[in-house]
Formats: sequence, structure tokens, C-alpha cells
Amino acid sequence: MNRSRIEWCDHTLNIVTGCRRGCEYCYARTMSLRFSGNVRLNITRTDKYRKDEGGYILDEPFIGENGKQIIYPFGFEPTLHRYRFNTLDKLKMGQNIFVGAMADLFGDWVPDSWIDEVFRCCAAHDQHNYLFLTKNPERYADLEDLPAGENMFYGVTITTEEEMHRFNFLPARRNIFVSIEPILEDVLPEKHNLLFRQTDWIIIGAETGRRKGKVIPDPEWIRKIVAVAEQEKTPVFMKDSLIEIVGEDAMKREFPDQLLVRKKSEKILAKMMGECVECHERKEKNKMVSITARTKRGGKTNAFAYMCKPCFVKWCREHGVKVPPLEGLEDK
Ligand code: SF4
Ligand SMILES: [Zn+2]
Repeated sequence: MNRSRIEWCDHTLNIVTGCRRGCEYCYARTMSLRFSGNVRLNITRTDKYRKDEGGYILDEPFIGENGKQIIYPFGFEPTLHRYRFNTLDKLKMGQNIFVGAMADLFGDWVPDSWIDEVFRCCAAHDQHNYLFLTKNPERYADLEDLPAGENMFYGVTITTEEEMHRFNFLPARRNIFVSIEPILEDVLPEKHNLLFRQTDWIIIGAETGRRKGKVIPDPEWIRKIVAVAEQEKTPVFMKDSLIEIVGEDAMKREFPDQLLVRKKSEKILAKMMGECVECHERKEKNKMVSITARTKRGGKTNAFAYMCKPCFVKWCREHGVKVPPLEGLEDK
């Protein structure tokens, strides 16, 4: 898992990488090929991977002959990086995680079993919000039991007006969003305002990179999308690639409410709670008096027990100790 340079999420989780769609402007393909090493040689090392109908499966990171990890040993061929499942354990606070930034996880070539494994991984770490994005939203409907949690966001990528129909395949009764990136033409938002009413979020971005024939959007294409979104009260996130096109003052960086929530993991929540040594009530440790001690002279003080405010005040009175100021602690 990586801290993301994509501005609308905190992290990317690339359990499945590689894609067979072949978009001209694909940065994921460029990156995968750059960090693939010698693919022909890697394929001969059959003790390091398995294959199934979806493609390559790595249970462990692929280590090259020089002892270093090769991140995409099969280039842009579909690969399931199973060893990445537990990387989510490292994140303590809930984050917004874009799953599959280096693939189209819902491409027709990806087996259900791979997608199920990804969903199971998300369910096991449900303090996070998960964002999925595909150019093949029909697949959402094909899957049985598409997870419906409030932390799951299903998106579709649209780049031209002709592709606006993809929106109709987004799943019902789920959080849905549309990523218009890279915007390659005027998508005629005035004609598709139903889309803007039904979606929970719209992301807009311009093409980046140095591709010959790269499309520089007309500011009017963006302005029209923002105007319809405002009318429908749909949050809009404009990527930094649009700053040069529309100017910083016109930039909008809005999120749906759920993506602003930062939940704590069960582990963290458990760590935050303590028990009063007197009345045994459980409360957040920072709402109680901590009883600290040093194990050696000049050493660090460590909290070894906690007492709730009423018990502490009672204890002070019983022992003739002046009650110190206890601001911010719970009275009950
Ligand atoms: S769908 Fe996405 S990952 Fe696949 S080729 Fe197109 S841009 Fe690349
Ligand atoms: Zn108490």
C-alpha cells in the first residue's frame, strides 16, 4: 500500500495490477513497465509465482536476482499481489483508500475470485473508506452481493460524452461517483443532469504526461460541469491538473461527508480505553486521571493505572490531598 499522490484519496491499494484495456493515455502501464525488470526472465522463474485463469498470482513479493523486490515482474499483465492483503493492518486511523489504481479491477478478464478476495480484505479492515473505479461498470451488476457498506464507493470513469451512458450501470443503493478524467471533450453536462443528481461525487481532471496528441481541456467544459453539479448540490473535486486551466480561485475540492470521517481501528479504540482502579468503570483514558510512575531515577514516567474524576476527588479527600485542577475530565 502506498501513500497516494492522487489528491482525492489518502492511499492506494494495488492488490490487483495490470490491465488489458489499452487506453492510450494510461500512466499505470508506463509505471508498471518501468518497474518490471526483465519480464521474459521473470516468467521463467516459475517457483516464484502461480497462475490461474486471471493471470499471475504472487503469494510473496517477487525478489529479483539482485535480491531486490521487483514490483511488477510481469509488466502490465494482470497480477494478484496477495502478500499485500495485510498491509492495511499498518493504518491505525480510517483512511480513504483507492483500490486498484494500477488496474481495472472490474475488467472482464478479472475472475470473480480475485474481486472477492479484495472485498474480503476490505471487510476485514472496515475502519477505512474504499473507492473503486472502473471503465466496465456492468461488472458491478454481474457480481453477486456487491458489498453495500457506507464505506464502499463505486465509481465509473468517463472521458467523453459518448461514455456518459456508463453512469447508468452504477449500482443502486450504494455510494457512487463519477471520475471525469482525463476529460477529453465537452461531455455536455446540461444533457446529462440526471447523472449529476444521482451521483454522490464528481471528480474532474485533465490529461497529464507528455503524450503526443494530449488533450488540453477548454475551461468552458469544466465550468459547465461545475455549474450543473452546483445546481444539483453534488460535491465536486477538481484535480490539480486543472489549476492551470481554470485558475486556483475557481478550484473546488469537495468530498461527500462519509469521506471526511476518520474512524479509528478496533485496536486503537481498545488502546484508548482504560478502567478506573476504584469503581472499575471503563472510559477513554484521556478523560481520566492517569496514575504514573518511573521505574528508575530520571527515567520516563509511565501510566500504570487510571482513575475516574469522582473516584480521584474522593480519594484525595480521604487522604487529605488537595484536589488539583482537573479540567477536561469527565465529572461522571
Ligand atoms: S482502464 Fe485504466 S488501467 Fe486500464 S489501460 Fe485504461 S487507463 Fe490503464
Ligand atoms: Zn471510578
